[in-house]
Amino acid sequence: MSFAIRTQQLTVSYGGEPALWNVDLEIPELSMTGILGPNGAGKSTLLKAILGVIPRLSGSVDVAGTQNTPVAYVPQRTTVDWDFPTTVLDLVMMGTYGRLRWFQRPGRQEREDAMAALEQVRMTEFADRQIGELSGGQQQRIFLARAFVQQASIYLLDEPFAGVDAKTETLIIEILRQLRETGNTIVFVHHDLTTVRSYFDHVVLLNRRLIETGPVGDVFTEENIQQTYGVMSHSLLEKKLTDGQGCDA
Ligand code: ADP
Ligand code: MG
Repeated sequence: MSFAIRTQQLTVSYGGEPALWNVDLEIPELSMTGILGPNGAGKSTLLKAILGVIPRLSGSVDVAGTQNTPVAYVPQRTTVDWDFPTTVLDLVMMGTYGRLRWFQRPGRQEREDAMAALEQVRMTEFADRQIGELSGGQQQRIFLARAFVQQASIYLLDEPFAGVDAKTETLIIEILRQLRETGNTIVFVHHDLTTVRSYFDHVVLLNRRLIETGPVGDVFTEENIQQTYGVMSHSLLEKKLTDGQGCDA
């Protein structure tokens, strides 16, 4: 198996207890990989560590194919300032900045690429709207369009379905499947355990430590789900009580 992303002994801390602890994983090239775990498990932190936008305490991150911009990132929609005064088209064109030289301004080609990406997410008619006027599902779609124009080979998305309607979710998953079929690796944080088997072929179960990772059929088991979402926090609770620290977890 050749990997798109590999972490070895990855530890990330924001100052206190590590948000990620000794995480070893390989995400296969051309896979559709799900990052699963409870709130605070370090899922967003993992994506940011892969992007290299937060410092590691220790360990390493390798991304295959280090040419230009191998990785495109779609942040969690709720972490974005939607009041920022910009149009849909301008926001999508920002995705092309990585391939421009510093003295170049986006031109006709960039504009065409941005319009093509908007077409892909069926948002062409919104090109001149302010981003603040969009619904949650529409916001998610233009962020996806902004990722497309980056011409990456690995796409990282943080909870792309949070706050979007069922119809948009279907549209987005179809787009991601196509993207994968045309030779890309797709990695996204996901919460709905009922769709895990149909969406992913590979999963990462995370709760600050790596619980398990591998093909969805092998790894997405009752026992591992329990460990990721339940048993782990229970044992943590016991530990805290025995340590006499009370419970803040
Ligand atoms: P998830 O995405 O799985 O919900 P996060 O990666 O956002 O989890 O957060 C993991 C842990 O790191 C949480 O305890 C969170 O409070 C903490 N954390 C995340 N970002 C920061 C930050 N910028 N500063 C301090 N702590 C943070
Ligand atoms: Mg998160």
